[in-house]
Amino acid sequence: MENRIKSVDKMKKIMKKYYLGAKYAKYFGKKIAWITSGGPVEPLIAIGIIPVYPENHGAMIGASKIGAKLSEYAEGLGYSSDVCSYAKLDITSSITRQSPIGGLPKPDMLICCNNICATVQKWYEIQARKFNVPLFIYDTPFCHVDLDDSAKKYLKSQTKEYIGFLEQVTKKKLDYDKMQEVGKLSVKAMKIWQEVLDCAMQKPSPLTAFDAFIHLALIVTLRGKKIVVDYYQTLLEELKERIKNKIPAVENEKYRLLWDNLPIWYKMRWLSNTFAKYGGALVADTYTQSWCSVVDYVDENNFLETMGEAYARVYLNIGTDKMAESAIKLIDKYSIDGVVLHSNRSCKPYSFGQYDIARIIQEKRGIPTLFIEADMADERKFAQAQVENRISSFMEVISQLRN
Ligand code: SF4
Repeated sequence: MENRIKSVDKMKKIMKKYYLGAKYAKYFGKKIAWITSGGPVEPLIAIGIIPVYPENHGAMIGASKIGAKLSEYAEGLGYSSDVCSYAKLDITSSITRQSPIGGLPKPDMLICCNNICATVQKWYEIQARKFNVPLFIYDTPFCHVDLDDSAKKYLKSQTKEYIGFLEQVTKKKLDYDKMQEVGKLSVKAMKIWQEVLDCAMQKPSPLTAFDAFIHLALIVTLRGKKIVVDYYQTLLEELKERIKNKIPAVENEKYRLLWDNLPIWYKMRWLSNTFAKYGGALVADTYTQSWCSVVDYVDENNFLETMGEAYARVYLNIGTDKMAESAIKLIDKYSIDGVVLHSNRSCKPYSFGQYDIARIIQEKRGIPTLFIEADMADERKFAQAQVENRISSFMEVISQLRN
């Protein structure tokens, strides 16, 4: 059984207000930018543009269990079933307006950062043509092991071009003092988010990766706004209180697990309950860490000059060895007994290297790994009975190793 975190109600209200604000942006003379989840949002906030995230919208659609229906619609338009479901859901819902919030507000511009995958580039080109709006591509070199000086210089030039693009579209000059303030708030939010996730180092953990997936919405969408810092502070206090009173996220936590890849939005509760039945608590994940793990590369007093490097070092833009290194750090930090890897049909950059990562984990830490084949938003890719059997065998192995 799971103990619910109460702050989540406050977060839902903030998200509702944010989406309403975006919906009525035109009435307040505000522009809307659609932006990729790993994109540099801070300059948008500083210049007064409302950022909107098709991927967050895709997660909502997935959680509402209409992802399969809308993916099928996209396939009927000629998109392959192998195309990322977030892209298909966005393209479909911008035509049919089907979604839990009746579709996203029309964009005035699109901002695509290719630090997460190559799909976003084609997807945003399609939408830029559809809406007939300008598209800016913030290009991040791949960081196999490290970034050399020319890559860092290139990233600075990308930031400069990005600001120029925003000033041209809005016909406004960026206020650099405001930018600095937004940068500081963004860094602060990332640090508190890390503190939130680190509460899971406690045994028993007061939160699970499923809680982290839900609470991620704010750091993704409104990073750089004070409301995000305030909310995570409230959440952190609640978690500290739970630690003090020994309130666990999973009753009788026996085994601590790490999740890799995006969540399976339409099966979160089922997965959480199924693992909990065996005393398994998914206490950490590689996904939600992406929004704080690069904070050390940003200088909050020189945000604009340094943000490019941080954005180029996110989890999906680093080599497989580096990904395995990050996963092993999490295994040690959160005292992990086993790793669950969601082999995600949609997300190739996340899923391709997973078998190598699992092998490295087994070699270096000798803990078991479990693969779950699915898709983050398309229910057709999830075979429940098969997954249930695999979880049962996996938990059996973990318990035998423990004993
Ligand atoms: S392919 Fe992966 S990173 Fe790219 S948009 Fe889809 S889920 Fe996100």
